[in-house]
Amino acid sequence: MTLSQRLEKNCNKLIYDCTDEELFCGILKTIDELKNEIKTKDEKKKLYYISAEFLIGKLMESNLINLGVYHDMRQILSEYGKDLSKITELEIEPSLGNGGLGRLASCFLDSIAYTGIDGDGVGLLYHCGLFKQVFKENKQFETPNLWLGDNTVLNKTDISYTVPFGDMTLKSRLYTIDIIGKDRINKLNLFDIETVDEKIVTDDIRYDKADIRRNLTLFLYPDDSDEAGRRLRLYQEYFMASNGAQLIIDETLRRGGRLEDLADYAVVQINDTHPSLIIPELIRLLCERGMDMDTSIKIVEKMCAYTNHTILAEALEKWEAKTIQDIIPEIYEIIKELDARKKSECADKSLHIIDDNSLVHMARMDIHYSFSVNGVAALHTEILKKSELNDFYKIYPEKFNNKTNGISMRRWLTGANPRLDGFIEELIGRDFRNDYEKLKSLERYKDDNRVLSKLLEIKAENKADLCDYIKEKQGIDLDPNSVFDVQIKRLHEYKRQQMNVLYLITKYLDIKRGILPKRPITAIFGAKAAPAYTIAKDIIHLILCIEELIEKDKAVSEHLRVVMVENYNVTWAEKIIPASDISEQISLASKEASGTGNMKMMLNGALTLGTMDGANIEISSLVGEDNIYIFGKSSDEVIECYKKNNYKPYDYYEKDARIKEAVDFITDKDILALGDKESLTRLKNELIKKDYFMTFPDFEDYYSTKDKMLSDYENRMGWAKQSLVNIANSGYFSSDRTIREYNSDIWRIV
Ligand SMILES: *Cc1c(COP(=O)(O)O)cnc(C)c1O
Repeated sequence: MTLSQRLEKNCNKLIYDCTDEELFCGILKTIDELKNEIKTKDEKKKLYYISAEFLIGKLMESNLINLGVYHDMRQILSEYGKDLSKITELEIEPSLGNGGLGRLASCFLDSIAYTGIDGDGVGLLYHCGLFKQVFKENKQFETPNLWLGDNTVLNKTDISYTVPFGDMTLKSRLYTIDIIGKDRINKLNLFDIETVDEKIVTDDIRYDKADIRRNLTLFLYPDDSDEAGRRLRLYQEYFMASNGAQLIIDETLRRGGRLEDLADYAVVQINDTHPSLIIPELIRLLCERGMDMDTSIKIVEKMCAYTNHTILAEALEKWEAKTIQDIIPEIYEIIKELDARKKSECADKSLHIIDDNSLVHMARMDIHYSFSVNGVAALHTEILKKSELNDFYKIYPEKFNNKTNGISMRRWLTGANPRLDGFIEELIGRDFRNDYEKLKSLERYKDDNRVLSKLLEIKAENKADLCDYIKEKQGIDLDPNSVFDVQIKRLHEYKRQQMNVLYLITKYLDIKRGILPKRPITAIFGAKAAPAYTIAKDIIHLILCIEELIEKDKAVSEHLRVVMVENYNVTWAEKIIPASDISEQISLASKEASGTGNMKMMLNGALTLGTMDGANIEISSLVGEDNIYIFGKSSDEVIECYKKNNYKPYDYYEKDARIKEAVDFITDKDILALGDKESLTRLKNELIKKDYFMTFPDFEDYYSTKDKMLSDYENRMGWAKQSLVNIANSGYFSSDRTIREYNSDIWRIV
């Protein structure tokens, strides 16, 4: 049967007569059929990628791509005047993730399946997701994201485990999502409790945080600014770890493995510290099944590998010993034993799992009891080895390794930017999809004006599409001929959206004085702030106030627009990234472990404006300094500055007229007329008095580098050439490459 006949059969109707909804159902059935034709081979050893979040995005398009029928499906539908993108738009995006870490886990699952590795994801099924961001009065509000409603990808299983807490036991239920590769199907295992109750949540996401039986799997990262919230998070973490551990043991036994050989059957990649309790839980389960403590520790050490994602001290997870003791007493005893063993070996307190203040350091437990510790970009791993984890590196040098992050090229090129994907195929054939490093051969077109013009044309079309989409979603008219300057990522002070805003204020004031940019600028933001992160919310408030101020000022809005998209998620990213000209990657050097948004925009032909941080450094060495715009202090300078502890933002504020003017404008009467005085004043004071992530010292360099970039943009052919060099060198960032490295260095699954 041809694909077209199959689709028609599954729609029960002529394609021509189908609505988009009917086609959506027909395509789903078709995917199911094609999937069932794939014979998945179980290997002896299996990978479990355990993570609190999976920011998976819509799946229909990427499933079609991985099944190898995406282009044909597009073609068939277009012959009947239907648009596949309009149909796939109907899917609801799952809300199981937060930001880069969750998106990484999802790109990894895609590449694990696609490159043929036997490996599943393990996580939780959050009914209300992270939260849905809504803007009101120029502020962020949070509402539950009830994405499960019409869900089309989730399968209920008959697998259920018992999870023992100190004060109760909970029964789980396993749901799965199929992860479709080229010639194998893996799974994302998501655990839930049956007693969860969405009805206890109010519209502004308040609920009884102590009612664990009903709230355990409601939200990803429940607000932990109070004790009840922190306790809930620990319940969640253990629930995830225990279910994961039971699943691993179950599946190993089912495959005929013996518990003594568990490490030959299973390898666990621990994505950041939220799943770390899987280490003591595996030990507990092995002991419960009759193994002695020494043997079970040895086995677990051989099967666990840990990925570190941050060096921000405040982000390194620590628990009060008494909280752990209270909620999961058996696990506490095991952690105490694990700690005692290391305390007897090493006197150095920075290596102790339980410190003198009775805080349990999760990352330390991971490092002691895993066989691999990896950072996520070259600089990040170097900083771990040289400073943050140097004490550990000295005793376990062989455990440390780097795995520079990657992105699914299928999602972020083929799916998100079919125009560019198709044009690349025209130029170099389709073989690059098996090995994205082959994109390199695009460089031979670097002086080919026809190719460069076509690249500009594709970007212009993508920008026009984005304008239509933003008009439809938010009712805003944007100018597709303006420069699209894009900063889309979680709102965090270290990512320095506030520095971008100061630049935009300066531009606004310049325009008011009659100094006009050569071409209009559209600054696009997308960002959610953690509900209890006050300053992050203040920054969103400022961005939205400026957006409104400019929108209402015709004289300025012809030259400068600011727009913040509401509820930034994967679906938004897939629309914005192909339309981006400037990729803002302006974190304070040493603070962004890797970044992956930077890779996605590079692949889509945007030029990076960035600091020497995370994977920006690798981008820079791949494209060469002529094809990237680098500014700001180096990570060594920053680390030195923190050591000396002598940074005084007020000095910059006083001495630099541009900084003073921009910062003062935060509480200008025109802004106060649109916003909340308390919030804006707090933000202004934070900058003048603290500016912990040092925006002022980098500001002048940022300002002039960005202006240089805008002026270079006017040399359209020169810009297109730089853009082409970026696309051509982005192949290294394919998550297929990252996963091959994980497999050959860590997992070793055939
Ligand atoms: C890629 C991605 C991120 C990560 O962006 P960074 O710039 O690397 O922080 C966050 N959210 C979404 C929706 C993404 O697609």
